[in-house]
Amino acid sequence: SERTLVLVKPDGVERGLVGEVVSRIERKGLRLAALELRVVSRDLAEQHYAEHDGKPFFGSLLDFITSGPVVALVVEGPRAIPAFRQIAGGTDPVEKATPGSVRGDLALETGSNLVHGSDSPESASREIKLWFPNL
Ligand code: ATP
Repeated sequence: SERTLVLVKPDGVERGLVGEVVSRIERKGLRLAALELRVVSRDLAEQHYAEHDGKPFFGSLLDFITSGPVVALVVEGPRAIPAFRQIAGGTDPVEKATPGSVRGDLALETGSNLVHGSDSPESASREIKLWFPNL
C-alpha cells in the first residue's frame, strides 16, 4: 500500500467540486488518511512547487495556489500515486487529460486544472511531510 498527497486547488474549492473529487477517489477504492481545508501561505506554496522555481509560470502558479482555500488530502491504497494521477488526468485539461478524468471532464486551462497529485514515491513522501508534518 502507498500514500499520495492530493490537493483540490482553489478553483476546485471555489466551484464546489470537493465532493466530486473525493467521490471519485473513494469510488476507485482508495482510502482517505487525512483531509483538511487550508489557506496556503506563500512559504508553503514555494516549498510545494520548489521544482518549478525559475520557470515562466512560477509566479502565477504561486498566485493561483494561494488565491483561496485548498483541500489537502492524504490518499492511501495499492498504487495510490499512479491511481490518483489517472483519476486527475494529464496536466493540460484539453490536450492531455482524457475524458473520464477530473481534468478531462471538468477543467479547461492548465493554469487552473483543479487538482494536484504527487508524481512519484519521493514526491509523495516530501509533500506529505510538508502538508501533514504530524501524520
Ligand atoms: P500537479 O503538480 O499540480 O499535479 P502536474 O504534475 O500535472 O500538476 P506539473 O508539470 O508538475 O504538472 O506542473 C504543476 C502545475 O503547474 C500544473 O498542475 C499547472 O497548474 C501548472 N503549470 C504547469 N505547466 C504550466 C504552464 N505551461 N502554464 C501554466 N501553468 C502551468
